[in-house]
Amino acid sequence: ENTSTRYLYDLSEGDASMKALLGGKGANVAEMLRLGVPVPDGFTVTTAACIEAMNRGGDWPENLWEDTLEALERLEERTGRRLGSGDKPLLVSVRSGAVVSMPGMMDTILNLGIGDDSVEALGAEAENPRFAWDSYRRFIQMYGEVVEGVPAHAYEDALTRMKRVRGVEQDTDLSVDDLKELVEQFKEVSREHMGAEFPTDPRDQLHRSIDAVFRSWQNPRAGIYRRANGIPDDLGTAVNVMQMVFGNRGDTSATGVCFTRNPSTGAKELYGEFLVNAQGEDVVAGIRTPRPLAEMESVLPEAYGQLLETMNRLEGHYGDMQDIEFTVEEGSLYLLQTRNGKRTAPAAFKVARDLVDEGVITQEQALHRIEPAQLDQLLHPAIDPDHGQSPVTKGLNASPGAAVGEIVFDSDTAEQRGKAGDAVILVRWETTPDDIGGTIMAQGVLTAHGGMTSHAAVVARGMGKPCVAGASALKIDATGKKVTIGDTVLREGDTITLDGSTGEVFLGALELVPPQINEDFQAVVGWADEVRRLQVRANADTGEDAARAREFGAQGIGLCRTEHMFMAEDRLPAVRKMILAGDEEERAAALETILPMQQEDFEAIFEAMSGLPVTIRLLDPPLHEFLPDLVEQALLVQRLELQGGDETELREARVLLAQVKKLTEMNPMLGTRGVRLALLYPEIPQMQVRAIARAAFAVAERGGEPLVEIMVPLVAYAEELRRMRELIDETLAEEFESAGKEFPYTVGTMIELPRAAVVADQIAEHADFFSFGTNDLTQTGIGISRDDAEGSFLAAYVDDDVVPNNPFASIDADGVGGLVRIGTDRGRQTKGDLKVGVCGEHGGDPASIALFESIGLDYVSCSPYRVPIARFSAARAVL
Ligand code: ADP
Ligand code: MG
Ligand code: MG
Repeated sequence: ENTSTRYLYDLSEGDASMKALLGGKGANVAEMLRLGVPVPDGFTVTTAACIEAMNRGGDWPENLWEDTLEALERLEERTGRRLGSGDKPLLVSVRSGAVVSMPGMMDTILNLGIGDDSVEALGAEAENPRFAWDSYRRFIQMYGEVVEGVPAHAYEDALTRMKRVRGVEQDTDLSVDDLKELVEQFKEVSREHMGAEFPTDPRDQLHRSIDAVFRSWQNPRAGIYRRANGIPDDLGTAVNVMQMVFGNRGDTSATGVCFTRNPSTGAKELYGEFLVNAQGEDVVAGIRTPRPLAEMESVLPEAYGQLLETMNRLEGHYGDMQDIEFTVEEGSLYLLQTRNGKRTAPAAFKVARDLVDEGVITQEQALHRIEPAQLDQLLHPAIDPDHGQSPVTKGLNASPGAAVGEIVFDSDTAEQRGKAGDAVILVRWETTPDDIGGTIMAQGVLTAHGGMTSHAAVVARGMGKPCVAGASALKIDATGKKVTIGDTVLREGDTITLDGSTGEVFLGALELVPPQINEDFQAVVGWADEVRRLQVRANADTGEDAARAREFGAQGIGLCRTEHMFMAEDRLPAVRKMILAGDEEERAAALETILPMQQEDFEAIFEAMSGLPVTIRLLDPPLHEFLPDLVEQALLVQRLELQGGDETELREARVLLAQVKKLTEMNPMLGTRGVRLALLYPEIPQMQVRAIARAAFAVAERGGEPLVEIMVPLVAYAEELRRMRELIDETLAEEFESAGKEFPYTVGTMIELPRAAVVADQIAEHADFFSFGTNDLTQTGIGISRDDAEGSFLAAYVDDDVVPNNPFASIDADGVGGLVRIGTDRGRQTKGDLKVGVCGEHGGDPASIALFESIGLDYVSCSPYRVPIARFSAARAVL
């Protein structure tokens, strides 16, 4: 018999290693049985059976029902009871149990086997008819809801009515006769909704219950949960049939849930709740308010002591914090479930660290206990989870963290008010490079347009600034300074709260809790450093960012973009002069004024990164990005013409318009930019190289140790790089000569065009290093424009599973990842020691980092705030 397709296991046949077949719940209950922990007896219908039934459109596989009946007979023999019998009846629960725990997403039926005959027997045996009838009404409700689809409120209404009529508060205050009457009412409610008699044959009920649990794998809730957590749809659920133990058998019976540590803080302390005279569902579903676990000591001292001992034992056995469900029946403790408990980010770090300190697990095991997303959570201030408010609208969770501030509609106001110390949120249709000033001074950014890797989002993440992008319900009237969301109208100065982690937008100010970069965090990321092979660098354009990156553990700068240095307000006039220059001389003069500014920037960066490599990328964007928008400029000219005002102003506006027209391209992303721009206007890279050299000398003079790497963007042909390298070498030689000293440097290139990846062997002749610009490589490799795609077809593609995820957020492993592999292999064919890295969004994405590790890159580079995540993910990638 092929064990992988077995459909049934007795509990005693299983163990914790069999989760894929028995589900997490079944495997762990079996494991507890092995450990001698008291659990109810039972058997498990495997996930293989569920999958087979799904494949057959719901029909059960051959023999499954016969096998089930045999397993039931064995259970009846072992317990000395019979399902549905009027003498010593057996009652069971039918419990879902997925491979990966999906708490509460699927269905479970309790008390199956109770009926008009067995209820009397059960009551007599327990000398507690009230308990038997209580179990009966619970069964009808659960079975009706789960198997027959009767709406829950139908039963709840009847129960509430009964309690009102009897003038009691609690279910437990109802008498036996009340419960008997309730059972009749529940049967009637079921009949009404089912259009048929409530079924009475317990074997038939069992069949239909197992089938209902199979089907609950496919209910919408479970589907949503799987999608949100990346759980495959085809795993199926196991079904556990277990003898009932009764927490509702009176005052020495109870049920509860406990954690072996505090799942919110990670502290090693008692954490749990229980209810006397109740069944498990009462606690989980919040039907009655449970009591703190500590109180159980006085109510049920023996079971309590046994529980604490078992908790310790299970935590030690599994080596992780456990989430445990238990029931006490007339003083005897039973464990019904144990699993590794879900926890907040701070708790994840504390528990991992404490378990290592306690010698329970190794550092490497601890690294597996933390999810990269939890590092993310720790690095940003968060909204107090207990806020209880509903969002006014929702966009994309583009940059995590929370922001509270007053709405402003333009970058200048954001900048002014931000500088004055006001908390503002920049609300824009979309953001452009012009908005950078406002973005820096704002608490957060909200846009109606643009996606997860839109400019606003990239910038916001780079700064650790919360951002909700593409909130399409926003109707922004920037001139009228108001925004409409449905019926709500907000004006400049109104306060809102953004949750960049969920994409939610709230009215008013929600409470924030500060980020928690604590010792636990440091310790865990420190372990990652001992394990990882990949180096981690940061993308940083300023001394400040560089310093922050270093604090977060960056081992250098992998991408210093120089265009932001051109965008600053005090530099733009000089930059425009340079672009508008009539001849080389005029251009050279303009560049002379820019050079000291660039030098100043580089000095700050070299200083902050002293002793660590700094990769500076020469100017990349097309020149029109530094000029006004074509339409706006045309309108300006028209307005000046109509006003008939100042002649010089009009003339200048027209010259600018002509230049904007000339530089405007159909497809700027594939136009005159990167190395193409540099070869067309060599004065520009020359100036940049001089600024780099002078900054390096200045910093060295002050005792710093600049490590210079110069990078050429958008190379497609080896010849492009050969020429640029010549220009760089010559310019530096001149600088070295006039300074009478020199410093070591390297020259490399971005690989961000498919052609470059394919001819990487040729390009490597002229390169000391490669850095894959995976943002552009994704655009050019797949042939999709990021700015246009994310708001339109790409979102639909992701929703419809045409593509597994947004390739700008997590690398397209086969396609773009394949280009990275080809480029790396071919480059190293030419130069065995070619240093290869990645810069761009993917450098901070855990899944992408795993791929880069497998390709054998030397480093990844990401925004400063993602450096700890990259360090951590790089370690996970080798474990
Ligand atoms: P979920 O996955 O939604 O937690 P479970 O299968 O764990 O569903 O069942 C819910 C609750 O029902 C459990 O917390 C437990 O208290 C109770 N329960 C399940 N099976 C039994 C049983 N055999 N005896 C007593 N209580 C049970
Ligand atoms: Mg459970
Ligand atoms: Mg690029």
